[in-house]
Amino acid sequence: MSTLEIKNLHVQVETNDGPKKILQGVNLTINSGEIHAIMGPNGSGKSTLAYSLAGHPKYEVTEGEIYLDGENVLEMSVDERARAGLFLAMQYPVEVAGVSVSNFLRTARTAIDGEAPKLRTWIGEVKEAMERLRMDPDFANRDVNTGFSGGEKKRHEILQMDLLHPKFAVLDETDSGLDIDALRVVSEGVNRVHEQADTGILLITHYTRILNYIKPDFVHVFVDGHMVEQGGPELAERLEAEGYDRFLQAAK
Ligand code: ADP
Ligand code: MG
Ligand code: MG
Repeated sequence: MSTLEIKNLHVQVETNDGPKKILQGVNLTINSGEIHAIMGPNGSGKSTLAYSLAGHPKYEVTEGEIYLDGENVLEMSVDERARAGLFLAMQYPVEVAGVSVSNFLRTARTAIDGEAPKLRTWIGEVKEAMERLRMDPDFANRDVNTGFSGGEKKRHEILQMDLLHPKFAVLDETDSGLDIDALRVVSEGVNRVHEQADTGILLITHYTRILNYIKPDFVHVFVDGHMVEQGGPELAERLEAEGYDRFLQAAK
């Protein structure tokens, strides 16, 4: 079993008006096989938490620690984090012109495993994973995220997760912009990887809709750069009914 621990994390970002504090003491522990949902209003710092875990250079950790099985994640480069088993599906994935999906995935897998997968078996693996996500086989030859629809971007993220079998996956608003059919396919993909690889999931979302498909063990309410409440799935139902107002008032 693996554990991802976030302890008293403070993060700031450099802006034109100087440094801006965003995360203000985040505490969270995730074990293998657990699904944690983080819910919060726009601008509360959810994506900042995801970027900080991934090691995005713009987000400066000023205090606190992140450990993966006792190893100090903050001392790892972006690549080392991926090799250690951390995976981030971004809210706004970047386009990579001139690199096909198939090559991109093979490079990622090579970086993580330390050796390139054999081409024949790899092509088969990608094909099967794409079939599971009901993706057109031609998709493998397209440039990464270039001209992808919202739904295609999200499926591509889950395809990566399926092929890289991370220890922990951070999914940042994987539900946004998906129609109901795409949401179902993407959710099934997340659930399958979760079950097969015992991946711990950190599901960041603005809406409760995806939680009808991916059942969280824990729900955290995130306001103003930190967790303000934790509970089980019933907390998501309460948020659906009451909104974030109560928490926003309390944060003032
Ligand atoms: P969420 O994902 O919860 O909507 P974000 O983490 O994207 O929130 O943003 C939290 C706050 O930090 C917002 O006020 C946002 O404008 C600000 N912020 C995030 N990243 C940057 C950045 N690179 N430059 C300037 N401000 C940023
Ligand atoms: Mg589970
Ligand atoms: Mg966000």
